[in-house]
Amino acid sequence: MSRLIATRRIASNIFAPRLATRSFCNDAPVTLNNAPSGIHIDKEHEDEERFSNDVPQHDIAIVGGGMVGMALACSLASMPLTKHLSIAIIDSNPALLNGPSIKKDDPPDPRVSTVTPATISLFKDIGAWEYVEQHRHAYFDRMQVWDYTGFGYTRYNARDADKDVLGCVVENKVLHKSLLSSLQDKDIKKTIYSTRLSSMSLPTRSSVSETGASASKSLANLAKLELSDGTNLYAKLVVGSDGSKSRVRELAGIKTTGWNYSQSAVICTVEHPAENFCAWQRFLPAGPIALLPIGDNYSNIVWTMSPKDASNHKIMNEADFVKAVNHALDSGYGPRPDSRVFGGDVFSSFFRPNVTSSVNEGFEPPPKVVKLASDKMAFPLSLMHANQYASKRVVLIGDAAHTVHPLAGQGVNMGYGDVSSLSDVIADGVAVGSDIGEVTLLKKYETDRKTANIAMMAVLDGFQKAYSVDFGPLNILRAAAFNGANVFAPLKRNIISYASGERRLPFMS
Ligand SMILES: Cc1cc2nc3c(=O)[nH]c(=O)nc-3n(C[C@H](O)[C@H](O)[C@H](O)COP(=O)(O)OP(=O)(O)OC[C@H]3O[C@@H](n4cnc5c(N)ncnc54)[C@H](O)[C@@H]3O)c2cc1C
Repeated sequence: MSRLIATRRIASNIFAPRLATRSFCNDAPVTLNNAPSGIHIDKEHEDEERFSNDVPQHDIAIVGGGMVGMALACSLASMPLTKHLSIAIIDSNPALLNGPSIKKDDPPDPRVSTVTPATISLFKDIGAWEYVEQHRHAYFDRMQVWDYTGFGYTRYNARDADKDVLGCVVENKVLHKSLLSSLQDKDIKKTIYSTRLSSMSLPTRSSVSETGASASKSLANLAKLELSDGTNLYAKLVVGSDGSKSRVRELAGIKTTGWNYSQSAVICTVEHPAENFCAWQRFLPAGPIALLPIGDNYSNIVWTMSPKDASNHKIMNEADFVKAVNHALDSGYGPRPDSRVFGGDVFSSFFRPNVTSSVNEGFEPPPKVVKLASDKMAFPLSLMHANQYASKRVVLIGDAAHTVHPLAGQGVNMGYGDVSSLSDVIADGVAVGSDIGEVTLLKKYETDRKTANIAMMAVLDGFQKAYSVDFGPLNILRAAAFNGANVFAPLKRNIISYASGERRLPFMS
């Protein structure tokens, strides 16, 4: 909503909005022979320009049409100030051309994302949420987090923050398909290149300083992309949304900071006897295990463990794996927390005005898993942060800019935060007639998102470290933190609004 308001705020700065031109391509890349909007071509140098007419030019080249890159394309296509921009999307994933074929009763995909209310709002703004709702998804209004020592637990209820839901779990392929469907509905100039970026030339300082009226000089001031099928194209702005091993980041010479966690996550879908509406997470000595509802009688498992254990669990037979999951979720490692130790009885009567509505709910055992319902996959976990998000004609979003531990399900939500911010910055640039690839404009995006992302990464890394140590006094402290968060309403409300993406962490502002 705030994005729409921001768009309206600057709309008055536009003299004559361009008309959108439809150039949607379903099965092959389209070379646009007309100069894309926003790229100035001087009449004096028409000959030189004709020479370069064979090379397509775009306002924006989105490299990586994954969940984050496609959201940016949709977002730009939805905003009055940016929907006229000519957009290239480069990705060899055949789903971009054919669309993934998903049926509602297909077995669930093991790759899922917990999306926050802030992400749901973005999807509603860009017209993609209605498609998510046509497929399997699961809203959850409760969450229970506890520790294997049996000392503490926290239950979150959407009611604690006057909300209907805490989030929604959606298969990644459903999020992706919904974005594709929404983009197909929009009347914009876009070209899909079903291939990969192989190299990129960025304007040098001398070509930038020579920028003048001539077309050739204008082209020299653009980014030139070479694709692995031999196609070349020019763009005013290259967006790297090509994941954690980003080629755009590498070609732009942007360095990263980070470390491996020496942990892997095993993910899969499991079945239980009844439908689940709660997100469960239990902290074990080697890392957390989460059971996330995904609709019907299915839930998704995200289980963090050592890489060696992950390899063993990946090849384990179904019966042993189901047994291991139930052991990790409930019956093994330590006792269930006792609701009376720190819970409602003592604390809530003492601090009556500040107790949360869920404090009296008591600890609940998670559903018993009865069946494996998908393949198992294992991912090594790491933290990575790009030292810069923006340089001349290049900007990074999503996993190309940052990867985090999945323990709080924030990774793609951070990417969607990048999408909202970058779309607004581009719209602001268009509104005042700026060059959208200018680094001074792009740095506004970097400043906005770096602060938010670093704060979230620090919190997640702190959690990862606090829960990787099995040490008596620390276990008690953790239990106290769980119980404090369980009992005090303001703390619980704040945790819910930070995790849902609606408020920024206090040290970010
Ligand atoms: C186990 C696990 C669980 C997770 N759970 C959650 C969760 O619950 N909630 C959450 O918010 N996040 C979660 N995440 C994080 C989330 O999955 C990622 O943040 C998200 O997938 C990043 O999306 P992306 O589009 O930035 O990158 P990617 O999904 O990596 O997409 C990159 C795209 O770029 C394309 N590409 C790559 N190189 C090139 C090239 N040279 N040229 C052209 N195209 C290229 C690829 O084909 C791909 O389509 C989890 C991650 C893991 C590992």
